[in-house]
Amino acid sequence: MDNTELRAWDNGHFVHPWEGMAAVGQNDRTFVETASGIHIVNDKGERLIDGPGGMWCTQIGYGRTEMADAMAEQARQLAYFSPFNNTNSIATRFARELAKRAPGDLNHVFFTTGGSTAVDSALRFIQFRNNLMGHPDKKIVISRQKAYHGSTYLAASVSGKERDRLWLDKADDLAHFLPNVNPLYRAEGQSVADFLDEKIADLENAILTFGADRVAAFIAEPILASGGVIVPPEGYHKRCLEICRRHDVLYISDEVVTAFGRLGHWFASKDVFGIQPDIITCAKGMTSGYAPMGAAIISDRLIADIAGNDATFSNGYTYSGHPVCAAAGLTSMEIIEREGILEHVRQVAPVFQERLHDLRRIGIVTDTRGMGLMGCVQCSLDGNKTSLLEGDYEIGARIDAECQKRGLLVRPIINMCVMSPPLIISEDQIHQMFDVLGDGIRASVI
Ligand code: PMP
Repeated sequence: MDNTELRAWDNGHFVHPWEGMAAVGQNDRTFVETASGIHIVNDKGERLIDGPGGMWCTQIGYGRTEMADAMAEQARQLAYFSPFNNTNSIATRFARELAKRAPGDLNHVFFTTGGSTAVDSALRFIQFRNNLMGHPDKKIVISRQKAYHGSTYLAASVSGKERDRLWLDKADDLAHFLPNVNPLYRAEGQSVADFLDEKIADLENAILTFGADRVAAFIAEPILASGGVIVPPEGYHKRCLEICRRHDVLYISDEVVTAFGRLGHWFASKDVFGIQPDIITCAKGMTSGYAPMGAAIISDRLIADIAGNDATFSNGYTYSGHPVCAAAGLTSMEIIEREGILEHVRQVAPVFQERLHDLRRIGIVTDTRGMGLMGCVQCSLDGNKTSLLEGDYEIGARIDAECQKRGLLVRPIINMCVMSPPLIISEDQIHQMFDVLGDGIRASVI
C-alpha cells in the first residue's frame, strides 16, 4: 500500500495528541517507519538524528534487540495478570530496583501507565492521606506558570502553560500558579539573586495567603521541560523545599523528563538539586520509550502516616505494573548501568551545553537554556527577548523544516526548539547535531 492511502486513513481515523482543529483531516504527517541508535527513518527513506529523543524518552536509543527479546520473552511467559489482588515477580523486582535508586526514603512505587497518571496518582495519594489524617481542607496544590504535568484532569489542572488551558475545563479550585521562574524575564536591573529571593517569597506568600492548613503540596519539575527548558536560578529547589517543610506542605518533584539519566543521574532531585522530595513522579525514560509506564514513588513517611488505617486507596489501573513494561524497564536499567550511560551523559553534557550556547551568536537567537542533555534555543526575528512578532510564532516550525532537510529532527514549540537526544549520542554526533541546527536556524530567516 502506498502512503497516500495510509495518510488518508491517518487523517480519517487517528486523532493525534494536540490535534489542531483548523487542519483536522488534512494533515500531511510524516510516517516514521524504522529507527536505530539515535536515528529515525521516515517514509521518504530519509535518515534523521532524533533531536527530541522521541518525547524526551529514548534514553538507550532505538532498535535494541536485547529489549525486544526481554519483552517478547516476558510476553511469552506472562503477558498480563490483574495487579489488584495478585502481583508478578518482574514488576516486584523493578519496584525494588527503582526504590534502591530513588533518593532517601522514597521506597514505595505506585506503577502507572505514563507521566500524567503518575502525577494524577501522586495528587490523589496526597488527597487520600490528608483526608485520613483529618485535614480534608488541606487540598490546594501550588504549581508554576509554564509547568507541564500531564493530560489527565488533575494533572492538567496543575499545569500552567497558558495556551493549553484555553479550551479545556480544569479543577479551578485545586491549583495556584506562581509566576515564571525564568530569570530571562526578571525586571530590568534586577540581579539573579534578587529574582531568586522574589520567587521564593512568591511561594511562601502563596502558602501564607491561602493558609498552610489549606495547602497540600508544591509540585515542580526540576527543570521545566516542555515549558521551554527553564532552569531556575541555583538554589531555587532547596529553598522551596525549606519553605515547604516550614509550613508542612509536601513537595512533589515531577521527574518525568529529568529522571533516568537525562541530567546524568537516575534521579535529579537529590543528585543534581540536593533535595529530598516527598514524592517523585517519573515515566518516559523509565523504559527508554519501549513500553508505556510511569510511577509515583512515595516516601516511607507518607505511607507510615496512614498505615494501619481501615481505608483503601481507590486508585489504580488495569495495567499497573504491567509485566511486559516492567521487563522493558528492568532491561533498560540494566543497559544504562552496564554501558555506563549515566557517566557518559556527565562526560558529554558540557560539550552539548557549549555547542548549545554557541548558537547565541546567530542574530535571531534570543536565548539558549539547558542542563545535561536537555536544551532549548529561543528565537525572535527582531532579536527581542520579551515580545513576539507575528512571524515568530512560525519560527520553530521553520527551523524544524530546515533542519529536517539537513538530517536532523528538532521539536519546535512556537518560537523555540527543544533538544533531548538519546543519551547514547556520541560527542561527534553532538557536534553534527549542532552544526545542522545552526545551519537550520540561519536558513530559516533567509
Ligand atoms: N510531567 C512532565 C514533566 C512531562 O514532561 C510530561 C510529558 N511531557 C508529563 C508529566 C506527562 O507524561 P505522559 O505524556 O507520559 O502522560
